[in-house]
Amino acid sequence: MAAKKHGDLLKEVMAEFNEAADLLKLDANLRERLSHPRRILIVSCPINMDDGTVRTFEGYRVQYNITRGPAKGGIRFHPEVDLNETIALAALMTWKCAVVNIPYGGAKGGVRVDPTTMSMKEIEHLTRRYTWEISPMIGPEKDIPAPDMNTNERHMAWIMDTFSIIKGYSVAGVVTGKPISIGGSAGRREATGRGVVYNIIEAANELDIDLTKKTAAVQGFGNVGSVAARLLAQTGCKIVAVSDVKGGIYSSKGLDIHDVLDYTAKNTYLEGYKNADVISNDDLLTCDCDILIPAALGGQITKDNAPNIKASMIVEGANGPTTSEADGILNNKGVFIIPDILANAGGVVVSYFEWVQDLQAFFWHEKEINDKLRSIISNAYKSVRSMAKDKKVSNRMAALMLGIGRVAECARIRGLRP
Ligand code: NAD
Repeated sequence: MAAKKHGDLLKEVMAEFNEAADLLKLDANLRERLSHPRRILIVSCPINMDDGTVRTFEGYRVQYNITRGPAKGGIRFHPEVDLNETIALAALMTWKCAVVNIPYGGAKGGVRVDPTTMSMKEIEHLTRRYTWEISPMIGPEKDIPAPDMNTNERHMAWIMDTFSIIKGYSVAGVVTGKPISIGGSAGRREATGRGVVYNIIEAANELDIDLTKKTAAVQGFGNVGSVAARLLAQTGCKIVAVSDVKGGIYSSKGLDIHDVLDYTAKNTYLEGYKNADVISNDDLLTCDCDILIPAALGGQITKDNAPNIKASMIVEGANGPTTSEADGILNNKGVFIIPDILANAGGVVVSYFEWVQDLQAFFWHEKEINDKLRSIISNAYKSVRSMAKDKKVSNRMAALMLGIGRVAECARIRGLRP
């Protein structure tokens, strides 16, 4: 999704939907059906705070579409969460699951809260109460949440536990991104970064690029960015720059990623790392490199910095890192963009594997998971590229057309009752 300043996201998502629908010559009735979220639940979560007061937080769960299977999408705890943003993100999840052709619809949930101001106990209370409130809507056969901004394995364990208490038995398949000890999947933690790198390998094969002769810069050194940097370095590609919220580091000779990972394991941030030069996040985006991987926040590549970007390939690990204006500038410059709904889909693919394993109560080895992920990403990449060449559109529009086209075809063939 090329987007997005907060507040405009839904407008942007619908504008892109309409552009893709025009190019697909989508039947007007199908367009009408796919323009609306299927179900929305708004909840109030009153929480006993540590100081004895009660505060009430507003939360949402949106199932945008369930035509291809149960709804799937993360739960975000953030002060800027609102209903429109949640609808937009649920729509994007719908197209993303369809691009990688896994049998899910799309959903998103969130609570408008700043968790950084709360204790773990308060956050646990909030997670459990929110789960309780949305429990009529979720379940392994209905809607399967996962981590998103400011939620992680810890929250997923609380959700699984709360939902299981309501049911009276353990329901592992109600969420993904859980700890392995309660039904999580091997390889889930690395899956998004791994999917980013599988996409780059596909592009290198298609475009005849020798990765051992290329350099890359990665913005964001969290889950997605650090795994992408580590695995990309394994291909022989030189990682020249990485950054986090406090700034970045750069070395034209290439960073020793394992040394950097050891450093952040001890010091949390890259700040103070000695074996490289210090650069800002802005400098990282425009530094001398062949491949740029934004893997931090949305809206980082803008009309102001896009003209100065030197990378010839951008692989969107983050959701919506490129504004629409920047997207136009980069397309005119001929930059090869692997859009977020393809580039970062590895996470939801391995979430799907986690859910399948939970339903079967039979768990796979990591190699099997990575091989299956590779095959799904490879097929999705090839389908997007073939759509892009066929219809003479950008990779981003091709991915949207592929995803929206698949959802529309399911809706058409299932028909409309009554
Ligand atoms: P994370 O919290 O693990 O890491 C985020 C990283 O970005 C951290 O290193 C943080 O310091 C850095 N960062 C924060 N603000 C920044 C700023 N202003 N400038 C530069 N760096 C900044 O998060 P994550 O799970 O790695 O997710 C990163 C992005 O990938 C998000 O956009 C997320 O929506 C997207 N994504 C994640 C997954 C997943 O499975 N984790 C799946 C799909 C998409």
